[in-house]
Amino acid sequence: MNGAVIELQAAAAEGCTTAPVHRERGQREVFCGLTGIVWLHRKIQDAFFLVVGSRTCAHLIQSAAGVMIFAEPRFATAIIDERDLAGLADAQDELDRVVTRLLQRRKDIRTLFLVGSCPSEVIKLDLSRAALRLSQRFAPQVRVLNYSGSGIETTFTQGEDACLASLVPGLPAQNGDAPPSLIVAGALADVVEDQFARLLAQIGIERVGFLPARRSDAMPAVGPNTRFLLAQPFLADTARALEGRGARRIGAPFPLGVEGTTRWLEAAAAAFGIDPATVASVTAAARARATAALQRQRGVLEGKSIFFFPDSQLEPPLARFLSRELGMRLTEVGTPYLHREHLAEELALLPSEAWLSEGQHVERQLDRCRAAQPDIVVCGLGLANPLEAQGLTTKWAIELVFTPIQGYEQAADLAELFARPLRRRALLAA
Ligand code: SF4
Repeated sequence: MNGAVIELQAAAAEGCTTAPVHRERGQREVFCGLTGIVWLHRKIQDAFFLVVGSRTCAHLIQSAAGVMIFAEPRFATAIIDERDLAGLADAQDELDRVVTRLLQRRKDIRTLFLVGSCPSEVIKLDLSRAALRLSQRFAPQVRVLNYSGSGIETTFTQGEDACLASLVPGLPAQNGDAPPSLIVAGALADVVEDQFARLLAQIGIERVGFLPARRSDAMPAVGPNTRFLLAQPFLADTARALEGRGARRIGAPFPLGVEGTTRWLEAAAAAFGIDPATVASVTAAARARATAALQRQRGVLEGKSIFFFPDSQLEPPLARFLSRELGMRLTEVGTPYLHREHLAEELALLPSEAWLSEGQHVERQLDRCRAAQPDIVVCGLGLANPLEAQGLTTKWAIELVFTPIQGYEQAADLAELFARPLRRRALLAA
């Protein structure tokens, strides 16, 4: 490590429940877990993400973050250079110096994440030891945590899982005799979080916290009277960590589309002894609005076929939404990892003819995709250009993670993400 903090330019029981899943292992074409920093740094407003990595890592976040310019950046990369790779420098000492300088300069930071990468793993830099040491040094103003976003260990949404799981041990403890509370786990755009907070309050669930919270001192308490509801399907480690603190998961489909959102809210309500009729009356207006708004995209999407490459783990709930609410035909639904327990309600809703695949062997999958000739393909940036060049219409998987897509008010926006490329293709062909 050359000691420099490089400030990035961004300165800144039916359905598919028992269906066989095709498993593949081979070359993958997926972003690494560092990508999650792009949306997480916007969500936790007093956190800072220090990637301990290479210039490649800095470049990845920079390009994923696009052209966003922040006066006060909330992420940076501490570059590991050849001296470190050759074992010539004491990387722990260097890291201490970088962190000390950063925290002296940035008094607004309350949580500092040391984010591991492929290079830090290669030199076996123990970031958990560094986080513990630095946490003790800077307590109580700053908590220093660590997780890995390395491409060796994580695909792009697993970075968020690792980040949220690292927050769980530090959540305040809820007493055993505390009234029941709900944690909604998974980073949501603020606008979506506000809508859900309002709906859950109107339904009658009084104590609701979100993980992550927008500020480090507002993270929700957890204990045996906590139930949690996943807002994202890629949070296996976070769920395990919450269960380790005594919380219990509420099984539900994910809040994508009108049906997914309603069933998600109903599951939360049921866990708090509130009947579906209450949910129905609270959500009636929003449901009607969203259903009407979806009609426009239904005209474009109905009967069209879609093929998912495995990227985000959002694929099964997206496929369920597109097939059941918009009448799309599913050719292949690929997902990097299929968590059967967390996705049980989704699998039950997927049409039984959906072809599910888990993992990736990119060449074989490309062959299947070309043979299927779907109307639209959801894939990573690396595959989109070659597929477009072969005449296929594509949608970038990463956009589905950056865009607010959950909840009633966003259902039509979500459908539009698929309708727009098809409309554009139709215009070009006309
Ligand atoms: Fe590349 Fe690994 Fe850095 Fe991700 S963590 S940008 S895969 S070197």
